[in-house]
Amino acid sequence: MALLVQKYGGTSVADPDRVRAVADHVARTRRQGHELVVVVSAMGRTTDELIRLANDVSKVLPGRELDMLLTAGERISMALLCMALAELGVPASSFTGSQAGIVTDGTHTRAKIVEIHGDRVRSALAAGRVAVVAGFQGVSTEREVTTLGRGGSDTTAVALAAALGAPSCEIYTDVSGVFSADPRLVPDARRLKQVSFDEMLEIAATGGRVLALRSVEFARRHHVPLHVRSSFTWEPGTWITEEETPVEQAIVTAVTHDTSEAKVTVARVPDEPGIAARLFRGLADRAVNVDMIVQNVSSHGLTDISFTVPRADLDVSLEVSRGMLPAIGAAEVSCDTEVGRVSLIGAGMKSSPGVTAAMFETLSAAGINIEMISTSSIRISCVINVDHVEAAVQLLHTAFELS
Ligand code: ASP
Ligand code: MG
Repeated sequence: MALLVQKYGGTSVADPDRVRAVADHVARTRRQGHELVVVVSAMGRTTDELIRLANDVSKVLPGRELDMLLTAGERISMALLCMALAELGVPASSFTGSQAGIVTDGTHTRAKIVEIHGDRVRSALAAGRVAVVAGFQGVSTEREVTTLGRGGSDTTAVALAAALGAPSCEIYTDVSGVFSADPRLVPDARRLKQVSFDEMLEIAATGGRVLALRSVEFARRHHVPLHVRSSFTWEPGTWITEEETPVEQAIVTAVTHDTSEAKVTVARVPDEPGIAARLFRGLADRAVNVDMIVQNVSSHGLTDISFTVPRADLDVSLEVSRGMLPAIGAAEVSCDTEVGRVSLIGAGMKSSPGVTAAMFETLSAAGINIEMISTSSIRISCVINVDHVEAAVQLLHTAFELS
């Protein structure tokens, strides 16, 4: 008998039929003799709808009140799932994040978990009950209700698995695992059997939407293997574990893409110490998450700095950069929202030269211009025009024989 932590995403509990299907699976798992902690997301698009509602009511959305509102979504799912379990004769108790002892810092709308008590969850398990926990939420050390940022239920599940000492954490979603590319763009994309934490971090950070980035960081830090699988087919999916991808596997594991960013260019910046520091300190102080940064070679003591930011942060980024023009002595700020990023990820890259060249050749053969490049030891990313993203993903998937 093992302790299992299962997380069900929004699509997995989107309507009454889905809630009953999940309850069936929970009952099945329990009949196999396992102890179960189930983490649920809000039903379907509930969180988006609550945010829309808030925006319809007011232009001012205090973080505390937004968190109070959004946590209602997961409360609905957890209560309904327990009712569906009751009908099946499975004893179950629901717990809010606060009741489950998920303690966070006080940063509303994107709080970080600092500690998990979990006493009530443990008592429920000891009493032979299934513990159903609301994902995405916690309580701050000041006893305020908080949320963990979009997609935060993954993090709740991983954190609970770590705190309770579960051997792994199952993440149920509407796809059957992690794929070599987005199957909507590449129909012959392959489901990966196993991916390393390092690769999954890069995949999650570059547009692979299956898992929230923070949950992968948490899983790696606390050594919790993840099993991403479908709640529609229940078939085995992708394991995310410590192990490196087997050597016989290809050098490249996946192609990802992201069209959610914009590019900002600060032109003709004096090429002197301290300029970049001031610019990026200004952006950091406004909590802008800068992604790729490129600075050109200078000519006549002037250079251009380009960087990408989430499109939602574009307005603030432009405001900060423009506001700084006189202070840093730069000429102008421009932006481009018609950009997208394609990335190749693979632990095998570390030891195989030539991947970068092959990637650039593939893009150039299709007449696709590369605007920015960034690399890590297991990733290469190129920023290109957004209209070329789909083709680039398909061409790279074929060129690196990922199907
Ligand atoms: N319901 C929250 C969201 O939509 C949390 C989650 O789904 O993980 O972001
Ligand atoms: Mg979700």
